[in-house]
Amino acid sequence: MERRACYALVALERGIDRVGPGGAGSEIRGGALTYWSVEPLAVGERVEVPLGRAPKRAAGVVVEVGGPELADGIAPERVRPVLARTGRALPPDLVELARWIAAYYVCPLGMVLGTMVPAAVKRGIGRRTVRLLEPAPAPERPALLETATGLGPVARAAWTAIAALPPASFPMTPVALAAALGLRTKASLAALARAGLLRWSERAEVRGTDELWPEVEAAGPDPARLTAHQLAAVEGTARLLGGFGVALVRGVTGSGKTEVYLRVIERALAAGHTALMLVPEISLTPQTVGRLRRRFAGPGGAGAVAVMHSGLTASQRHAQWALAASGSARVVVGARSAVFAPVADLGLIVVDEEHAPDYKQDQLPRYHARDVAIKRAQLAGCPVLLGSATPSLESWANATASAGPEGRAPGAPKYRLFELPHRVGGGALPRVEIVDLAAERRALADSARHAEAGASSGAPGGPAIKNPALGPTLRAALTRTLAEGGQAILLLNRRGWASYLGCPSLACGWSLRCSDCDASLVQHRMAPRAGPGGTARRQMFVRCHHCLAEQRLPTACPVCARRLVSVRPGTQSVEEELEQALGLRRDEDLVRVDGDTMRSARDYAAALARFAAGRVRVLLGTQMIAKGLDYPNVGLVGVVDADTSIALPDFRAAERTFQLVSQVAGRAGRGARPGRVVVQTLSPGAAPIRHAAAHDYVGFAGAELATRRRAGLPPATRMARVVVRDRDPGKAERLGRELARHLEAARTALAARDAGARDPAELVRLDGPAPCAIERIAGFYRFEVLLTAPGRGLIQAVLASARAGGAVKSDAAMAVDIDPVALL
Ligand code: ADP
Ligand code: ZN
Ligand code: ZN
Repeated sequence: MERRACYALVALERGIDRVGPGGAGSEIRGGALTYWSVEPLAVGERVEVPLGRAPKRAAGVVVEVGGPELADGIAPERVRPVLARTGRALPPDLVELARWIAAYYVCPLGMVLGTMVPAAVKRGIGRRTVRLLEPAPAPERPALLETATGLGPVARAAWTAIAALPPASFPMTPVALAAALGLRTKASLAALARAGLLRWSERAEVRGTDELWPEVEAAGPDPARLTAHQLAAVEGTARLLGGFGVALVRGVTGSGKTEVYLRVIERALAAGHTALMLVPEISLTPQTVGRLRRRFAGPGGAGAVAVMHSGLTASQRHAQWALAASGSARVVVGARSAVFAPVADLGLIVVDEEHAPDYKQDQLPRYHARDVAIKRAQLAGCPVLLGSATPSLESWANATASAGPEGRAPGAPKYRLFELPHRVGGGALPRVEIVDLAAERRALADSARHAEAGASSGAPGGPAIKNPALGPTLRAALTRTLAEGGQAILLLNRRGWASYLGCPSLACGWSLRCSDCDASLVQHRMAPRAGPGGTARRQMFVRCHHCLAEQRLPTACPVCARRLVSVRPGTQSVEEELEQALGLRRDEDLVRVDGDTMRSARDYAAALARFAAGRVRVLLGTQMIAKGLDYPNVGLVGVVDADTSIALPDFRAAERTFQLVSQVAGRAGRGARPGRVVVQTLSPGAAPIRHAAAHDYVGFAGAELATRRRAGLPPATRMARVVVRDRDPGKAERLGRELARHLEAARTALAARDAGARDPAELVRLDGPAPCAIERIAGFYRFEVLLTAPGRGLIQAVLASARAGGAVKSDAAMAVDIDPVALL
């Protein structure tokens, strides 16, 4: 009989949540199956196991080890063996974190574990063996030199130079050694190796250490002295080191938040720990990385800071992951998924721009990296430092106790709050002008100039753009800024040419919509391409931003044949308007930064570098440009349309609007000159716009929190959203009703069991089934049920019981979104 060293629960990466029989000899436990192995296994190891009746090989991660008791429920002799060990592993604390994520975010455990390890690492991309050279030990050298034959004068001179190099520089690759000695060929090194004076060794390495960015900008010198506010934040957070705790730094842009992060990271490293810093993908600029490297890449060189973001090649990603896993990187900086970086001895996690919705992953597993970071810190026993100019209302409530999500009494904040109310160096926050775009348009319409302006916009042959995107105030401000030699940033959070195309006749009312989604199609213009005969041809097409389906632009209204009109201009048409109205030249003094022009992190870094160098005068872009950039010469920031998110059918519309306008307004006047900010809007009286213009975060947050409390919305409550979908609208609605019924039953059972005679609806409010805000996407009809409760525990209890009964799961027909950041 075979020797069985251990039994193990293996979570399959394919992501089985609750399934039927997993084949003979497999027992399902919280998404994991039992196997045995002749060798002892460790928690976190990646293994291959048989799955199914005609067994297929499946990849999984060991989540528990033990004896035959792990096979409980089935005969141990029917348990099947592990097929292979892959030699790669996750640290056990990440396995524990994965268990929490799987439970909290209602997602199969194996899928969470699968997400934690980048595909490039699983496939071993970029692994290779490097051959290295080092000199023979000093006592053996005289004898070896004696007996060496065939060493020419060049080799002997090389040897003298090698012996003089610091011993710590070895082992070295032959290429690096030849370069260090100024040798043109490696022939003399080979001769020294043959003589035994140099010795070969091998090291497994991951290729991909080539430069991650085109250039790393040199940041200014490290500040010698912290401001009093910075000092309070650094000391206050540093006191939390060594245990769990959360600190929130709210600081206006340019107030020195990043400097605070760097100082606290320094403290964590000095205490022998590692540090992890999360930033939104788009803030992960060469500026950020450059600052970290300069501060922390000591003798270890660039390797001391590992960088993780989506713009890396597969082998770079593997190399950076390996740097973190081996412990040679003491600081890891990265976007959302870097929260899973395999660092040991974690001493601190920093989450910059903690309010950014990009921290929420919008597909399985639907985790929020800020919240996962807090959980990870709790498991690791280290503090988390959150920072933002416009903290999420969730964090603000936790730091001010004005509305504890668990309904705690005021006066007991969960987070420590530190404020940096002033810009470093005393620079004033820019004056923000709100421009009533509707009034400007009326004025324009009354004047004769309108005819010209209207005629000048619109692509040749394409539909006319109804109004110029830049009203007279913004246009004049831009002209003046450029005349004075300043630079400008223009924000428009809408890609493409225009996002609404319709018939100008009110009687007709036709508009172009996606045939598979409840959404308008967005017009795009193809990049100019040299056509036959060398003429540049520009063509329009339309694309759905939900299902990505494309079609050709209709030439006229299909109902009444009138020429179509575009409204809601996007970055492409504003780019053209700037070319025509101000004579700017595209890609020379004007650069557009959006998801269409910036294909990679390199493009983005290159565009920013050109702006920093002053060659580019106007940076036009989506929210990609709203954050983190620090350029002294920006004299004007224009918000072309502050209303892009104000009308969203989402309770966070006001918060998003406030954040966007505040963030971009902070980009102006960072140098000596005061900056000017012009905000165009159709709703000049709207609270988020007024508060943002007044740089009044506290006023906005207070008013908005009161509104949320009255409406019973987060952060005064916790929320979960379950969406069901089907191609058949009737079936989708039926699924929604079934879901609601199961949740209702789970809630009733909970009320009876745990909460005595309380009214179930007081525990957890259920809303729906109701059609989603976008009822149909890619041909699927969508219905949602919302769960709201005073605390997260109640929602978790209802969902867990519905999940155990199989009524709630994350699969193709049902999406569970805990703490949703968008409700579309
Ligand atoms: P934030 O992250 O809040 O936008 P930064 O930390 O990037 O602010 O600081 C803005 C600028 O001020 C940077 O150029 C930084 O080097 C500089 N700076 C930060 N703290 C100080 C200080 N105490 N003294 C002088 N300059 C500072
Ligand atoms: Zn569509
Ligand atoms: Zn029509």
